[in-house]
Amino acid sequence: MLNRKSLYLINKIDPMKTMTCKQLGGACDTEFTANTFEEMAELSKQHSMEMFQKDDEDHLKAKDEMMQLMKSPDAMQHWFKNKRREFDALPKDK
Ligand SMILES: [Zn+2]
Repeated sequence: MLNRKSLYLINKIDPMKTMTCKQLGGACDTEFTANTFEEMAELSKQHSMEMFQKDDEDHLKAKDEMMQLMKSPDAMQHWFKNKRREFDALPKDK
């Protein structure tokens, strides 16, 4: 189990990466920082859920586009692969 202190140390050794909501298929410039692409996707999902609850028009529109994409598993997989590559290529935060 990781406690708060060891998490802090991990972040020290392995700085986080930052992506915006827009970069992740969303609609705004909110930034997410995470160590892994999975964490990043999770943060973006949580943020989107919040925005959907607020009936944010831009995010609902982005969701529609994602839903279109999800109709094709191939397209979805391709999207994820590209985003993961984008994440891997990002410079780490200082
Ligand atoms: Zn957003």
